[in-house]
Amino acid sequence: MTDAFIGLGSNLGDSVTLLNEARAALTSLPQTRVTGVSPLYRSAPVGPQDQPDFFNAVVRIDTGLDAASLLVALQLIEQQAGRVRLRHWGERTLDLDILLYGNERIDLPNLQVPHPRLHQRAFVLKPLLDIAAEIALPDGTALAPYCATVEDQPICQYSDDRWSLIP
Ligand code: ATP
Ligand code: CA
Ligand code: CA
Repeated sequence: MTDAFIGLGSNLGDSVTLLNEARAALTSLPQTRVTGVSPLYRSAPVGPQDQPDFFNAVVRIDTGLDAASLLVALQLIEQQAGRVRLRHWGERTLDLDILLYGNERIDLPNLQVPHPRLHQRAFVLKPLLDIAAEIALPDGTALAPYCATVEDQPICQYSDDRWSLIP
């Protein structure tokens, strides 16, 4: 079993419902248990600015799926959410990224883990650290100190009754 972190994002449609459904879908993955759920965050978009705000969260799982199978499963969940992607870093109904997969480093054409941009993004770092304050990259670099480097990114916790923090 591997301790992994999935980044969830949405800025099209009913984002909170979409994130809730994605989370339920993660719970239903084979050989997988959800072990942690972050608060929801709302943030201004990265990339094109003329698009709706993003809603993000991080879910921790304990999984027997290998990383490649997990990616395929996440892409299926994205498609089932009717994923539309209009432009690079643009609006989308649902985005699921593998942020960390145990202590593994993966560098394949279609899969890089740890997610190469995770330490640059407040909407990833904050929810990740909420549920795993001591989390580090596979080389042992702690992620908490990176928070100070993303302070300029406007982001706030978003409270919604549909989002429970209980795994
Ligand atoms: P970003 O990766 O900067 O967050 P994005 O999520 O908008 O951008 P997508 O269009 O969703 O990018 O994905 C493009 C490709 O990224 C996918 O087809 C997938 O194969 C690849 N990919 C590489 N590493 C990962 C990862 N760790 N998790 C999910 N997808 C990944
Ligand atoms: Ca992404
Ligand atoms: Ca993605």
